[in-house]
Amino acid sequence: MPILEKISQASQARHWTDSIPLEFHYTAGVAGEEFRRELKRNGRFLASECSKCKNSYVPARMFCPSCFIEMKETRTLEEPGYVYSYTTVNRNRTGEPNGPVTLALIRFEGVKGGIVHKLNVSEPSSVTFGMKVVSILKEASARTGALTDILAFKPA
Ligand SMILES: [Zn+2]
Repeated sequence: MPILEKISQASQARHWTDSIPLEFHYTAGVAGEEFRRELKRNGRFLASECSKCKNSYVPARMFCPSCFIEMKETRTLEEPGYVYSYTTVNRNRTGEPNGPVTLALIRFEGVKGGIVHKLNVSEPSSVTFGMKVVSILKEASARTGALTDILAFKPA
């Protein structure tokens, strides 16, 4: 049945307010789970490699976004990462004064993608683009396979 009335404002539409109890479970995916398992067990970052274009990606992913083929090869990143971009914030999510906290996109030489995380520096002005950094991880027994297993990155 077509709507015969012309509604000029969204608030004029007939509606009701209610709630639907839903529960969501998102999986990390096959490659995401491998990445998390490597982080949890061995404290290392796992990258996936494309056999066709030879690009590597971190965090590990299942398909190459350039070639659209499945990437079955992986390698761990042993070298320090570097600061690709960063910002310093002085407020928390609710707007309360907090910090300063420096957040950075950490990339790795020859690898596409990266990890956004806290950068542990005493003085935000000491951060430079390209600065070599290493991760600070939780103790192995406390790691759960989440990105929060990484406490922060720090200058190498
Ligand atoms: Zn590729």
